[in-house]
Amino acid sequence: MQAISRFFPLLDTPSNIVVTCHQKPDGDAMGSSLGLYHFLIQLGHTVTVISPTNWADFLNWMPGVENVINYDLNKPKAQSIIDDAAIVFCLDFNILHRTKNMEKPLTDAKCIKVLIDHHEQPQEEAFDYGISLTSKSSTSEMVYDFIVESGHKDKINLDVAKSLYTGVMTDTGSFRYPSTTASVHLMVAYLKEIGLQHSEIHSNIFDSNLENKLRFTGFALLNRMEVLYEFNTALMYIYSQDLRRFDIKTGDTEGLVNYLLTIQGIKFGAIVIDRDEERKWSFRSKGDFDVNTFARLHFEGGGHFNAAGGRSDAKVDETVAKFKKILPEYEQQLH
Ligand code: 5GP
Ligand code: MN
Repeated sequence: MQAISRFFPLLDTPSNIVVTCHQKPDGDAMGSSLGLYHFLIQLGHTVTVISPTNWADFLNWMPGVENVINYDLNKPKAQSIIDDAAIVFCLDFNILHRTKNMEKPLTDAKCIKVLIDHHEQPQEEAFDYGISLTSKSSTSEMVYDFIVESGHKDKINLDVAKSLYTGVMTDTGSFRYPSTTASVHLMVAYLKEIGLQHSEIHSNIFDSNLENKLRFTGFALLNRMEVLYEFNTALMYIYSQDLRRFDIKTGDTEGLVNYLLTIQGIKFGAIVIDRDEERKWSFRSKGDFDVNTFARLHFEGGGHFNAAGGRSDAKVDETVAKFKKILPEYEQQLH
């Protein structure tokens, strides 16, 4: 993978470009993709954002989201756009299998592949150009840097700003995680200077709950949470019948894991959700407990030091039992 600065000259020649991100895009994956999209179209490129899967409804206010193609629902169309692309940008993931069904089309694509990402241990050999910085708050901040460093700061318009702000805000937990550096605040200051209305974005993202989602949150906290004080760990497990009972959709379970870390003294929060195809784990930690390594070692996953994900083919009760069995190995680190 060559340095991203060596890619900058290619921005000058209008090309067919695909922008993609990880499956079930979150605020940062969608925000960085749409931010880059609104930048690249101003340089005369023909740009298509392709999401590997569907995404949460709370992102549907975003500028340009109506043109995003859901790969799972439009495979032939998406494939022909990938076939015609000269460049594919891969945002907010470190390894191609994070794009699920798009892994093979992306692996087979002969075009130039560019990575912009902040996760641990990127698959560098899969990309021609790229930048991977785990110190960055978000991929959206990295897209901002990409635009500025390529000499195009003047192209940051309100659509770019709204998209990138969404990603930085969601990935920093509304500017509270340690990843919220001075450079994050300097970026936001610039976005404010050009007219960004940040309160509207917070409201669009956080004040869009439906009643069933709140009732489900209450149910999960009451009935599906275990606090293992001996390991400073809190655990939550959601069965598929819980999701059906409360009519829970993609994105509705996002944020649930964060409640676990709000319990006094808890350093490690873990939630497993019974999805159709697999049991999906989310891990969060405070301080020096490395959930990236934990997820890689035990649950086929990865991510960041303090936020990672994983998976299991086992049933919910079985994968929870495995989690509880592993925990004592980490007793020292969790104290
Ligand atoms: P979440 O728990 O919100 O799904 O994911 C937390 C972080 O870990 C995100 O940055 C996400 O991209 C990453 N992540 C989630 N699941 C996986 C996985 O299975 N493998 C890898 N490498 N990263 C993951
Ligand atoms: Mn991210």
